[in-house]
Amino acid sequence: MATVLSANLGYPRIGEKREWKRALEHFWSHKISKDEFLAKVKALRLSYLKKQRDIGVDLIPVGDFSLYDHVLDTAVLFGLIPDRFDQGEKEISLETYFSIARGNKDAEASEMTKWFDTNYHYIVPEISNRTQPRITRNRLLDLFQEAKQELGITAKPVILGPITLLKLSKGYDQEHFRTLLDALIPLYIKVLNELHQAGAEWVQIDEPILVKTLPEEDLAVFKPVYQQIKNGVPGLKLLLQTYFEAVDAYRDIVQLPVDGIGLDFVYGKAANLAAVKKYGFPADKVLAAGVIDGRNVWKNDLSATFAELETLLQAAGGKDKLWVTPSSSLLHVPVTITNEKELDPVLKNALAFADEKLGEAVTLTHGLNEGKAAITGLLEANKKDIETLQQSAHRNNQAVRKELDQLGDDLPTRPGSYRLRQQIQADAFNLPLLPTTTIGSFPQTTEVRQARRNLRKGEWTKAQYDQFIRDEIARWIKIQEEIGIDVLVHGEFERNDMVEYFGEKLAGFAFTRFGWVQSYGSRCVKPPLIFGDVAWTGPMTVKESAFAQSLTRLPVKGMLTGPVTIYNWSFVRNDIPQADVFNQIALALQKEVHALEEADIRMIQVDEPALREGLPLKEEKKKGYLHNAVYAFRLATSFVNNDTQIHTHMCYSEFDEIIEAIDALDTDVISIEAARSHGEIISTFEDFKYKKGIGLGVYDIHSPRIPSVDEIKSYAERALKVLDPKIFWINPDCGLKTRKPEEAIPALKNMVEAAKEVRQELSDRIEK
Ligand code: GLN
Ligand code: ZN
Repeated sequence: MATVLSANLGYPRIGEKREWKRALEHFWSHKISKDEFLAKVKALRLSYLKKQRDIGVDLIPVGDFSLYDHVLDTAVLFGLIPDRFDQGEKEISLETYFSIARGNKDAEASEMTKWFDTNYHYIVPEISNRTQPRITRNRLLDLFQEAKQELGITAKPVILGPITLLKLSKGYDQEHFRTLLDALIPLYIKVLNELHQAGAEWVQIDEPILVKTLPEEDLAVFKPVYQQIKNGVPGLKLLLQTYFEAVDAYRDIVQLPVDGIGLDFVYGKAANLAAVKKYGFPADKVLAAGVIDGRNVWKNDLSATFAELETLLQAAGGKDKLWVTPSSSLLHVPVTITNEKELDPVLKNALAFADEKLGEAVTLTHGLNEGKAAITGLLEANKKDIETLQQSAHRNNQAVRKELDQLGDDLPTRPGSYRLRQQIQADAFNLPLLPTTTIGSFPQTTEVRQARRNLRKGEWTKAQYDQFIRDEIARWIKIQEEIGIDVLVHGEFERNDMVEYFGEKLAGFAFTRFGWVQSYGSRCVKPPLIFGDVAWTGPMTVKESAFAQSLTRLPVKGMLTGPVTIYNWSFVRNDIPQADVFNQIALALQKEVHALEEADIRMIQVDEPALREGLPLKEEKKKGYLHNAVYAFRLATSFVNNDTQIHTHMCYSEFDEIIEAIDALDTDVISIEAARSHGEIISTFEDFKYKKGIGLGVYDIHSPRIPSVDEIKSYAERALKVLDPKIFWINPDCGLKTRKPEEAIPALKNMVEAAKEVRQELSDRIEK
């Protein structure tokens, strides 16, 4: 009998308690041998497959598991090895694989970058004109056979498609795109044929590039490529999988010569659903319906989704033509909620991590096959769990609601223009030309981290801890004065993390114990949950800032994390619009800014290092996002007096799409990362005449290397070719928390010396 199937697109690698991370790091630090490592990761991999089977998933992926990154795996599979790591190995050794990802003593690692609009980072494949694509080892075949032999599972291999793979790669000239593609396709065919012969029925080919706004000529490539693949492996069924957004060219895509199409009905819901309804779905294909959110942590509204699936079932034309899936790989969510023992049950019952999401897919599939009555109990329980959180006090803070309702459409605006503020502030602060400052944090040494641990474990009293923090602040105020920095910071010693610190003090946030997700390689992050109405409950930073300011006559910047960054680095409730959450956070920060101003902190920096990464994938959505981001930032900052100086900071350098929004933040001073990308950003300011205070980072803080005075000067001098010295600040790329004091202090000394020399040169020039 024809049945709907449940399918998974990808499972988290890291393990319920980050066992994977530990295995990797132990291997890298030689604490375990290669054999032990391989045995460990194999056991993990098999346990994930088994778990998915126990949950009841019909189509379980293989090939999604990785020892570092799935894009790197695909590149390595096809021999796309950077020249500097290519030692002519037939099979790529584990050592080479990790060297590409992490670098080694002779060669720099490959670059990594964000995977679409997620917080996952992939290794960018490097292809040179010398690169000869070839199959190094068919790891998918190994994994497929492993699942079959060890567990009797006929898995669905997952592979990144050739077009997305090449589009994400760098180092080759665009005119070689076709040639490279022609070289890759026979290799894909060979890999797929081997899988088919080993018993695979379906393979999932991911082409997420299809959700981007693609030019005609790129879109046109899909048909011949997939025709060639289809002809090359006639018996194997191909699922072309997209995710993270709707596809623009729906009509062309559903006609491609494949056996199934996977669409995202969460992040691309409106447009994908509209397209299915308007144009129908081809009768000869499977529709893989991504109806369960693969990127957020909330329970699915199963009743609503069930109704949607009934519509999709109609469109697909039969139960054997529909799969129920998450909207993307579950790589982006934590593994399971079951280990969370300390969460408020009202919240916990409304959460679903990877395992629970697969359970939801299975439930929905069951309902479609057996009739809705078969899942009534589950639907009711689901409804109750969601409603309980919805109706709880957490989500019904009337004071916050009222403030939100009162917001107008116009952008909040500073009382005085920048020109006026500039004059007032120049008089108030009396800073030299090219003032020097830092970005906020100073080294988080072992002692600082130990102090936090002592407090957490109850070995220190709060008073002891506070005294330690005060001593650190005092020590570093003195260090900064001795170095000769003009605008000081307190050093952020009391902060573990720039979002968590605020989340712990604001209402509406919660923290899990094991809610980790992979960020890159073995690095995992544990994002806070913004689950309720966000509200300020009292000063968060005033004590430290005011104390620091009391120690010096130089200005000390107050230091906050901005609303957009707090949003983008959290898992966020999805029952209200993004702009409402931005504004709730902004209103809370507004109260903090106000409290700082009251405490006579006259410069306040509101960091937005994640503003750019929330930029939507679709062109038509970018403007709205940026508008909302600017609105929230200004809501938090723009009410201050003209003689309060608002700073912001961003540590990335791709500004082309956002420069106007950055200008619209209307900050008095912005610091931007620049040295890390070798000053590339400087050219942006040839075209865009930026007129407010700005500091382009004059040295890269990611490296322990101490930059020389001349090196720092050369960055400043290059920037001064396009920016007026009257608005220019001298600062490092980012905060110094990851550096050691013996690296930070001499580097800052050189920075101050460089500033002095450039100032001197400028005044000599004016005299001449
Ligand atoms: N103020 C923060 C710091 O210096 C900024 C961090 C960041 O930009 N990521 O650490
Ligand atoms: Zn930064």
